[in-house]
Amino acid sequence: MEASLNKGTSDADAPGAVIAEIAEELRFADYRGKVADYIPPLAAVPDTKFGIAVVMADGAVHTAGDAEEAFSIQSISKVFALTLALGAVGDQLWSRVGREPSGSAFNSIVQLETEHGIPRNPFINAGAIVVTDVLLGRLEPREAIGQMLRFVRELAGDDGIVIDEVVAAAESETGFRNRALANYMRAFGNIHGDVERVLGTYFHFCALAMSCRQLALAGRYLMNGGISHGHRVINERRARRINALMMSCGHYDNSGDFAYRIGLPGKSGVGGGILAVAPGTASIAVWSPGLNQSGNSHLGQLALERLVQRTGWSVFEPRSL
Ligand code: GLU
Repeated sequence: MEASLNKGTSDADAPGAVIAEIAEELRFADYRGKVADYIPPLAAVPDTKFGIAVVMADGAVHTAGDAEEAFSIQSISKVFALTLALGAVGDQLWSRVGREPSGSAFNSIVQLETEHGIPRNPFINAGAIVVTDVLLGRLEPREAIGQMLRFVRELAGDDGIVIDEVVAAAESETGFRNRALANYMRAFGNIHGDVERVLGTYFHFCALAMSCRQLALAGRYLMNGGISHGHRVINERRARRINALMMSCGHYDNSGDFAYRIGLPGKSGVGGGILAVAPGTASIAVWSPGLNQSGNSHLGQLALERLVQRTGWSVFEPRSL
């Protein structure tokens, strides 16, 4: 009974009103999580920031809070890198990276030893480093970075998206664990290119700066079975499969809990952003820099939880009700 009372059916519950309400509720939240401090420029972002944007299947865009302010998308870029790599080599990718949740931290190295240098999935750091190496099988780092930038600009329909070079440089300076992961996988033969070139490219992908509005617009192809503002980006089956991976692996060792609480495919980044997809209905981006213990936005998750409760957008919601 409670669930149906919470479902948005009236105009008052339209997405724009719902997210305005949620932004207002969370504005003064006492506990906001902890801002990532292992990449210095990220540590400088105030934890008071909160933004949310929802793009509906009919193209309507709703925003609330700091939705126009660019932030470091970090690991959300792993979704776009995966899409490009599947476009480049198709299912061959899966001989070098798995499709199972890791149950481990985003930068964990432990499974790589017993699993012979094959990362569990493309959304943990090790997996995304392999995905980047795959892209560099055909492109120079400069070309791969340019391709990524063009791709997200096209998806979002916004040429204002940039890569934050300060963040990319800081990641490189502090990327000891990522260097360990890449070198370790190189020893197993699962990184083919030069480790520094692969990492330099990976760090640039992570350093993409986007606002909630730009990110939600960029996620439209995942909401629309592979189509973004009238253009086919990938086929329907691939869109479905990327969504499945986001649902099962998009939040590191917190992925099961995210599916349980929110029930949407989603991908988080340590910049505090989350891209979530309600297939056929909405593409959603939320940003709040304070993180939980697994490196996922604390208030971002809370906002999405409230959003699905009030709209009935969870993929587990019976559609016939
Ligand atoms: N650039 C970050 C790293 O490699 C990405 C981690 C994340 O966003 O979860 O450490």
